[in-house]
Amino acid sequence: MGLVVQKYGGSSVADAEGIKRVAKRIVEAKRNGNDVVVVVSAMGDTTDELIDLAEQVSPMPAGRELDMLLTAGERISMALLAMAIKNLGHKAQSFTGSQAGVITDSVHNKARIIDVTPGRIRTALDEGNIAIVAGFQGVSQEGKNITTLGRGGSDTTAVALAAALDAEVCEIYTDVDGVFTADPRVVTKARKIDWISFEDMLELAASGSKVLLHRCVEYARRYNIPIHVRSSFSGLRGTWVSSEPIQQGDKKVEQAIISGVAHDTSEAKITVVGVPDKPGEAASIFRTIADAEINIDMVVQNVSAASTGLTDISFTLPKAEGRKAIDALKKNRSGIGFDSLRYDDQIGKISLIGAGMKTNPGVTADFFTALSDAGVNIELISTSEIRISVVTRKDDVPEAVRAVHTAFGLDSDSDEAVVYGGTGR
Ligand code: ADP
Ligand code: ASP
Ligand code: MG
Repeated sequence: MGLVVQKYGGSSVADAEGIKRVAKRIVEAKRNGNDVVVVVSAMGDTTDELIDLAEQVSPMPAGRELDMLLTAGERISMALLAMAIKNLGHKAQSFTGSQAGVITDSVHNKARIIDVTPGRIRTALDEGNIAIVAGFQGVSQEGKNITTLGRGGSDTTAVALAAALDAEVCEIYTDVDGVFTADPRVVTKARKIDWISFEDMLELAASGSKVLLHRCVEYARRYNIPIHVRSSFSGLRGTWVSSEPIQQGDKKVEQAIISGVAHDTSEAKITVVGVPDKPGEAASIFRTIADAEINIDMVVQNVSAASTGLTDISFTLPKAEGRKAIDALKKNRSGIGFDSLRYDDQIGKISLIGAGMKTNPGVTADFFTALSDAGVNIELISTSEIRISVVTRKDDVPEAVRAVHTAFGLDSDSDEAVVYGGTGR
């Protein structure tokens, strides 16, 4: 008998009907002879609504209390799902992250899983239960506080449990039919990808394709857990994310030259204006940011104006961390020595991803040509071996994504990119 871990995202369990529909699918997997562990997210946009609520009572809610609040969302869905399964005549038990043995570090709101000890889940399975686990949450090793894993973190819970329980596969059920060559909400002609390597999926996820969370893919690669991303609304086969190409009929699926186009409008740009152009300046700026536990993305240092000996340094970071970063830099202004700070949250990032980039010259040139033909101005550029990213105005993003998608021949002939649910929030 195999063990499968299935994860259902918020849009799949948005209301009572959704929960009942998902329960049927889970029972089917159990009837097929599998042990089934289910990771579930909060219903619909519950997490966003809880954050809104917190911000109404405090502009910068304490991390510990915010985690306590947000984990309530997953508690609701896990209990309701267990009830719905029992109603179908099967045994089910729900568990919080802490009860399921998800042990994390102590960084509230974006904790990292450091260990998984799923003893209670094993016992529940051995007793014939379907185990339902609240996604996105754990308990800190030191202090035993309730933590959350960062937005979209249920994906990581699912893969971590799959690794700890030695599952055959981790199925991620969502509101689209798999991983597409671009976000189906933006590109209706996006194409479903049958198989994608961990490496390309990591870059897509890191560049904003929220269909899978970056940390979840990292985890899956480390423990070599194949992920099957598919829709909970259709019965279609989805996308396999794994180390080796899958077999389709008697052929192996080939690695695409370009896997897809990702976009991200969740970041902001901070420019530190008038920084003395001397060794140690960048170090003290980014030490300040790191000490505030903020992750940054792109960094650009402008050419120094010879007459003044001053330069500007720009970097991007999650909008949600913008305020904290500005406060930290202001506090350390005399230590760093700069004139002023500029904050811009009207930016967007567009990235082209594909391992074939390494061996196909001209990809970068074609990318920039597509953007210029679409009249899109580029503000920052960064590259890796298998990715090119640019920052543009936020309003230009949808048009730019479509232009690049078309230019690289990724448009599909049929409109297969169906979005079944969710609000896209
Ligand atoms: P869930 O609630 O199931 O976790 P998410 O909203 O986190 O769902 O992720 C699914 C969404 O990811 C899709 O509705 C889609 O808009 C978005 N998305 C972004 N990029 C892609 C992509 N390349 N392929 C598929 N979906 C994508
Ligand atoms: N409910 C959490 C969120 O909205 C976690 C998740 O859905 O994965 O971010
Ligand atoms: Mg998600």
